Formats: sequence, C-alpha cells, structure tokens
Amino acid sequence: MREAVRFRLAAGSGFLSIGGEQAAVLQAVQRGIERPLRKLDHFARNLLEALRDALGGEWGEEWATLWRMKHWMIAFALMLGSCSRPAEQAVDPQLASEIASIKAIDNHAHPVRPTLEGETADREYDALPVDSLEAQSDPVRDRPGSPELMEAHRAIFSGDKAAAAKQYGRDYAVKVLDQLNIETMLANRVAVGPGLPAPRFLWVPFADALMYPLPTDGLVHNSDQKQFFALEAKLLDRYYEESGGAARPKTLDEYLEKVVRTTLQRHKAAGAVAEKFEMAYLRPLAIGDPPKAVAEKVYATGEGDYTALQDYIFREIAIECGRLGMAVHFHTGAGGGGYFNVNGSNPMLLEPLFDDPELRKTNFVLLHGGWPFARLETGLLTKPNVYLDFSAQTFMNYPRDTAENMRAWLEYVPEKVMFATDAYPFAPPDNGWEEAGYLANKSGREALGIALTGMLRDGEITRERASELARMVLRENARKLYGLK
Ligand SMILES: [Zn+2]
Repeated sequence: MREAVRFRLAAGSGFLSIGGEQAAVLQAVQRGIERPLRKLDHFARNLLEALRDALGGEWGEEWATLWRMKHWMIAFALMLGSCSRPAEQAVDPQLASEIASIKAIDNHAHPVRPTLEGETADREYDALPVDSLEAQSDPVRDRPGSPELMEAHRAIFSGDKAAAAKQYGRDYAVKVLDQLNIETMLANRVAVGPGLPAPRFLWVPFADALMYPLPTDGLVHNSDQKQFFALEAKLLDRYYEESGGAARPKTLDEYLEKVVRTTLQRHKAAGAVAEKFEMAYLRPLAIGDPPKAVAEKVYATGEGDYTALQDYIFREIAIECGRLGMAVHFHTGAGGGGYFNVNGSNPMLLEPLFDDPELRKTNFVLLHGGWPFARLETGLLTKPNVYLDFSAQTFMNYPRDTAENMRAWLEYVPEKVMFATDAYPFAPPDNGWEEAGYLANKSGREALGIALTGMLRDGEITRERASELARMVLRENARKLYGLK
C-alpha cells in the first residue's frame, strides 16, 4: 500500500520535475501522505505481534497467513476509517496530488532579479518597499523564526539558497519557480531585466506615480506616507525622463498625452500585461468622477481639490489600459505598516468605478482577495470586468480561513478566481521572496484543496468538476484573462 502510493507519486513527480529537480511542493504532499501510512503499518505490526504473544505461538500456519495478509488488513482499516470519520482528511488525497501537479500561473508576486557578483543588488521589486516602515505587530505566521518559515527555508534548494544562487547565476529566479511548480509569475516590479525572462516572468509595472503631478506635501499624514510619496515623486521623474521630457507639461491635456498615455504605451510595448495600483497605501480607494474643468483648474493652478485631479487622471489611465488590453491591478484589503488605512482599502469603495459604463472595457483585478473584506468582495464578482486573486492571504492567514473565502467565491463565479502568492522579500535572507512564495504556494494549494473537498463532500460538484475548478484557479482563469498561450 505504502509502496503503491509512493510509486504513483514518484511517477507523477517525474513528469513534473523540471531540470531534474523535484518540485519542493510535491515533496511536501508526498511526505504528508506517507507519514500517516507509516503509522498505520506500525500499528498493524504491533497488533499482530501482540496477538501472537498472547496466543503463546500456538498458531503455526494461521499465523503465517495472517502475517502475509497484513497489508490487506491495513487497506481494510483505512477503508473503515474513511467511512466512519469522513471529516478526518481535510483534503481528498486524489485532489491533493492533482492540485500539487498543476503548473500554476501566479497572478501577483515581487520576484527579486538575480544579480551576479559585483553588481548592485536589486531594489526594483516594489515601487513602495515596506522594509523601512515604522514597526507594526506582524501576523504570527510571518514572524522571524516561525516554524513554517523555517520549514520553507529548509525546503527551498535543500536549505542552501546561497549555493543555488552561485550555481544557477542568472537562471536562479527561474529555478525558484521550478521549485514551486509555477510556470509563469506576474512580476510586479518597477522594471524587469536580465534574470527575469518572459514568458516565465510577465511584467506588471506601477502606475500610481502618474496620479500625483503636483507636490504631495499636503497629502502626507505620517512617516510611512512621507517615504511613499517621496518614492512616487522619484518614479514620476523616471517616467518624465523615459517619456522624453524633463518636467511637467503646462496643461493637463499635454500631461495626459505626453506623459501618462506615453508611459502606459511604453510599458505595453515592453511586455506589460497589467498596471498595478498601490493606491491603498497612499489614499482611500474611493475614486470619484469629477468634471474635466475641475481637474484642469487644479492642474494649472495647484489649488483646489487635489483628489479630484487624482481621480480624473486615474480614469484616463484605466480607459487607456482597457484600450491597450492591459488589466488594472488594485491592492485591496490590509497592507504593510502600522499606519496602513485598512478601512480605506475596502474593495467595496471601488464599486462605482466598476459600474461606470465608460470603464467596462477595462478588466480590474482585486489582489489579496480584499482580506479582511474577502466575503464582501464575493459580491463584486458578478461585475463582468472584475476578477480577484488570493495572494498574501496565503501567508498571512492559515489555509482554513483562506479556504472558507475561496469556497464562497468558487460557489459563486469561479471563472474570476486566480491563484497568486505575493512572493516578496520581506526580511531576507531568512524570509526572502523564495520563502514567502513557498509558504503562499503550499498554503494556497492546500486551501484550494480544502475548499474543493468541502464542495465535493457536500454534493455541490462532481469529482470531474473539482479537477476542472482546480485547473481554472491555478492557471486557466489567468491564461484567459491575459490571453496567454
Ligand atoms: Zn504585492
């Protein structure tokens, strides 16, 4: 029995291994199944030996037969166990191995670009890095030295990332994806570059900076925002430069044409599949629909309602993204830093935007499933152009919690739900993007398994449909949304 399971998994993982290395996620699943079987085997041996001792060794022939049949007895015990206690295994084993074997498309992550000796370390994995914010109370799973992070550290390249980085050089990031059985990762970064090749990595640049062409001193309310707005100003300077002009054009129309649309078109030409907004770190997600004259006046004079100007520019960006076939990604729900305005990150604030007929050609993706507003977000899935992913929930929260949210989404509009990790270098080297990716990947697949198993056992879906939903969430939904091969 044990051998049979191992054999089946080994055959499966052979098919999956890329470059001769077995994906770390498969090893974890295999270990999870082997351990309870080993325990059962021990139990049967002990039971038989106790029986033999009690009977004083008087059974010659019968004993030998019984001993030969012990594997069948284990199978029988397993069957009885699964009949009498159906809730014991949270994930159906067949589904678990299917889910582990699917090569995923990761809708959102921040991979670090591998650099070689003597090169400057990469800092372009985020427009607003969260590593120098004021202290916050970290979620317990992500605290330094947490057992799960240690496990992740041991699992990636057998615990020696430094040796792997040396061995693989520029191919290191691709090898990390192989370890996680991720085929394509959407790389939410300021820029891509050597070491993050398409199509394994697809670019998602940042567009917030374009919303702040005026000085932002009046928008700063705390030390974290002070850093953030300074970084946005730097990024806008970069966009000015790349657009061929050193400074802010005189009129709003010129700014929209020569800087905003030019930047989006340049991103698209460089392979971007979406634009990302970290808006929730800077201001609430309530985006109004102000008249152009109001926005023009603020732009020209620097006086009046700056938010109206931001809102107007945002809509122009969203319309252009729709025209170019790029999705718009929103950070939704809780975020990093003790000053983060959770209430302002509520995805329900975006509803008027989704209901605007002018923006129906733009697809919006709500990252992180809007946790802790995840259940509310379910209601937004019926908008034809709204999607979500469950990135970050999968390392901040336990699979049980994520599975409950996931099940509600999958029971409602399953074509809009996407796998993602938010792999991010939180505190390297112990908690790098590799470890965050490992934890989110493992927990995300587990949560999906729990959700689908629940639906299967409650008679909502067939086994075939459960497999289909797994493939949709892990890759097909993203493949369709971004038009990938
Ligand atoms: Zn992110």
